[in-house]
Amino acid sequence: MTSTGKPDRAAWIQGPSANCDPRPERVQAPWRLILLGAPGVGKGTQADLLHQRLNACHLSTGDVFRSAGSRAECDQSPAMKAALQYMRRGDLVPDSIVWEMVLERSGCLRCGGGFLLDGFPRTLAQAESLKQLMENQRLDLTAVLNYRLPLNEIVARLSGRRSCQGCKAVYHVTERPPRLADICDRCGEKLFQREDDQPNSVKVRLEAYEQSTAPLIEFYQGSRMLVTIAASGSPEEICERTIAALEDWRKRNSEHNFRNTLGPKP
Ligand code: AMP
Repeated sequence: MTSTGKPDRAAWIQGPSANCDPRPERVQAPWRLILLGAPGVGKGTQADLLHQRLNACHLSTGDVFRSAGSRAECDQSPAMKAALQYMRRGDLVPDSIVWEMVLERSGCLRCGGGFLLDGFPRTLAQAESLKQLMENQRLDLTAVLNYRLPLNEIVARLSGRRSCQGCKAVYHVTERPPRLADICDRCGEKLFQREDDQPNSVKVRLEAYEQSTAPLIEFYQGSRMLVTIAASGSPEEICERTIAALEDWRKRNSEHNFRNTLGPKP
């Protein structure tokens, strides 16, 4: 458990030898969701809010890299050191390094509470590897949430974003300011601007998204998993929109499955 009462996601952030506190509750029909969308669209904030509503664990590959980056260099593996170099420039970390890290944590995908994957997959190769792994483990993906926002709003969100170095809460200098400048409301730690939210890195990240991640939309549309959501408005409004879209999605899907079990109408 973190100082703010949030689950610590230890098995994901630190690796499989760590135990999550609290242990996620096993639920009957866990939500297994992927959150897609350009950097800055608010996937991390939505994952936090959705966790409170759906219970599923927020699994962010970016958080794993940032947590490794805050450790002493001598505690970083050579692969992690290389990954952090890519990340600081705003480039995507090579698939092989990302996949090794996710595979090591694949127990989190089997978690009985479900998951909210944020920032993974980000390339077609990663999406194919995940699909294969889930098929082998007989895990069903519930849906893929595709958050959409106009480019000028994305740039404004990224350049004003501030994160807490303690509990990782996310703020915005004008849209969601903390009560005291640069201090986290939740845990009192200092806020910082992510290195990759600086203008040069933002440009590289948006290009990387267009080139590598945007094709995933077609990939998941092809398997009819995609649920598209407008990411404008307050985080709470977007979360409500997401929940409504998911309820509708689950209803339509269970009707579809039900029809399947009954067979086609005569
Ligand atoms: P995020 O917090 O998801 O925006 O990720 C921050 C940075 O971590 C990205 O700009 C990449 O450098 C790296 N990263 C995170 N997830 C991935 C991934 N699935 N594939 C490649 N690079 C990633």
